[in-house]
Amino acid sequence: PPAAAKNFIEQQIDADLAAGRADHVHTRFPPEPNGYLHIGHAKSICLNSGLARTYGGKFNLRFDDTNPAKEEQEYVDAIMDDVRWLGADWQDRLCHASDYFETYYEWAVALVKAGHAYVCDLTADEMRETRGTLTEPGTPSPHRGRSVEENLDLFARMRAGEFPDGAKTLRAKIDMASPNVNLRDPVMYRIKHVPHQRTGDAWCLYAAYDWAHGQGDVMEGITHSICTLEFENHRPLYDWYLTRLDELKLLPHPRPRQIEFARLNLTYTVMSKRKLLQLVQEKHVDGWDDPRMPTIRGLRRRGYTSEAIRAFCERIGVTKQNSTIDMLWLEDAVREHLNETAERRMAVLRPLKVTLTAFADGSELPEGVIKVCQLDNHPQHPEQGSREIELTRDLWIEADDFMEEAPKKFFRLKPGGAVRLRGAGIAKCEEVIKNAAGEVTELRCTFDPDTTALADGKKVKGTIHWVPAADCIDAEVRLYDHLFAKEDPDKAEEGKTFLDNMNPASLEIVVAKLEPELADAEPGERYQFERLGYFFADPIDSVDEAPVFNRTVTLRDAWGK
Ligand code: ATP
Ligand code: MG
Ligand code: MG
Repeated sequence: PPAAAKNFIEQQIDADLAAGRADHVHTRFPPEPNGYLHIGHAKSICLNSGLARTYGGKFNLRFDDTNPAKEEQEYVDAIMDDVRWLGADWQDRLCHASDYFETYYEWAVALVKAGHAYVCDLTADEMRETRGTLTEPGTPSPHRGRSVEENLDLFARMRAGEFPDGAKTLRAKIDMASPNVNLRDPVMYRIKHVPHQRTGDAWCLYAAYDWAHGQGDVMEGITHSICTLEFENHRPLYDWYLTRLDELKLLPHPRPRQIEFARLNLTYTVMSKRKLLQLVQEKHVDGWDDPRMPTIRGLRRRGYTSEAIRAFCERIGVTKQNSTIDMLWLEDAVREHLNETAERRMAVLRPLKVTLTAFADGSELPEGVIKVCQLDNHPQHPEQGSREIELTRDLWIEADDFMEEAPKKFFRLKPGGAVRLRGAGIAKCEEVIKNAAGEVTELRCTFDPDTTALADGKKVKGTIHWVPAADCIDAEVRLYDHLFAKEDPDKAEEGKTFLDNMNPASLEIVVAKLEPELADAEPGERYQFERLGYFFADPIDSVDEAPVFNRTVTLRDAWGK
C-alpha cells in the first residue's frame, strides 16, 4: 500500500526495517486452545497473516497451550480448521508453547542463578494482598531474600512434584514499588498437578502467560508480536524478560517488538470466550457452531464466506482506540460477496395460494403448463446461465405481497390490482377468498403472459417472486436475528447479566416453498432467494433432496417493497 494508506503497525514495521532493527517480518497468531475462535480472532489472524504476506515474510500458528486445566484437543482441531478456512497459511510453521517447556525452565533457572527470580511461599490471596494498589506500592515477599542455592533447590523440587498445587511459585524479582503493577514481582510459574494434552504428566509446573509468551516469540524468531491493547502495560514486563535473557546471552533470535492494537468489538453480540462458553454450556444456543454465534464456526454455518470476513477485517482497519463496530459492517461484507457470487432462486417463506383463472383477455388457460419461464441465474453474470420454471395455474406467493386495504404506494397485489410475477407475466387480482375466520386463504387472478404492461396500457410497478405449487418443494428455512436485543449486551441492568439481554426472537423456523431446482441444492451451497436474502444449505441438517436453509443475511433493500 502507499505510505499514506499504511496503518500504524505497517509504519512501525517500515521504521524497524529502515533502522535495521529487523531485516524481515515474521508474525504469529497465538490462540490459547480453551475455546472456539470468534470474529475478533479473525481480525488478529487476518492482520498477522496479512502483514506476513505484504512484507513477503512468515506467519506462525502457535498454540499458547500453557494452561492445561482449560485446554482441549477438540479446540485445537477446530482452531486449525478455522484458521485454514480463513485462508491464513502457516505452512509448516505450526508451533506449540508446550514444545518450549524445557527451554522455558532452563531459562528460568538461569534467571534464578543471576538473582532475577525467587521461590515464594505466599498463597494467591496473600500475594494479592501484598501487591499494593495503583497508588500504593506493594510489600516485598518475606521470601524475596532467599539465596540462589535455596531458590535453585526449591525450584528443582517444585518441578519434581514435591509440593502441592499453590504451595509455591517462582517470581521474577523486579520492583515491588513499580508504578506498573505488572512489574511487582510477577509470577513466572505455578504448581498445577494437571496433565497436559501434549506433555502428559511430564510437568506439574506451568508457565504464566507473560513468561511464556515473549519467550515463545523469541524462540520462533518472531519480529513483531502483535496483541490487543490490554497488554500495553504488560509490554515493560515483556521487554524486561527479554532484556535479562539477552544479558545472559540466551536469546536464539533478535528481540521481537510487541505492538498493541484495539480489539474488535461488535454490536449485538459478546466476544468473551467465557461468555460464549456459558451460552453453549447452558444451552442458550445450539452449540459453538450455532449460526447466531460470533464464532468462526457459527459464521461458517450461517453461510459467511472467508472472503467476506477478510474483506470486513480489511475494511475496519487497525487502530489504537477501542471502539465497537456496527454489526452492519459485517453483514454488508457478506452481502457484497454473495451478491457477486450467489445464484438467484425463488422461494416463498410465508406462502399464500394464488390460482390463475383465465388469461387477461378472458380466454381459457391450458390445463397443464401455461408458460415455460426462463429465469437468469445471475442478473450480472449471463455466463451463469438460466433455468426453466413451468408456470401452472396454482402457485404460491409471499403472504405479505398481498394487502387487502393497501395504501396508495403499495405496488404489490391488492384487490383489483396487478403485479408482475418475476419472469412470467402479469397477474391481476380479481377475487379474494377468505375462510370462516375472515383470513385471506387464496387469490384468484387473471394472467397476462406479456410482462411489459397491462392490456389497457397501464404500467405495472411491482414485481414479486413466486413458486409453482405443483413442483415446488417444502423445506425448513431458519431465519436469524441478533442473538442479543441490546446493542451492548455486556451492559446489563442492576442485578442482571448479559443473558438477560438475549433476544428471545433470534431464531424463527419456517417451512418454505422452494422452486423445484432447489431440491438438488448441495449442502454448503449459497443462493440468493430473490427479495429475501442470501441462504446457505446447512451442511449438517440437509439431506438428499431435502435441503435445510439458513439465512445468512437479508438483502439491504428488497426491491418492490
Ligand atoms: P481469553 O482472554 O479468554 O483467553 P483471548 O481472547 O485472549 O481469550 P486467545 O486465544 O488468547 O484469546 O487469543 C489469541 C489472539 O487473538 C490474541 O493475540 C488476541 O490478542 C487475539 N484476539 C482475541 N480477541 C480479539 C479481539 N476481539 N479482537 C482482536 N484480536 C483478538
Ligand atoms: Mg488470552
Ligand atoms: Mg480475552
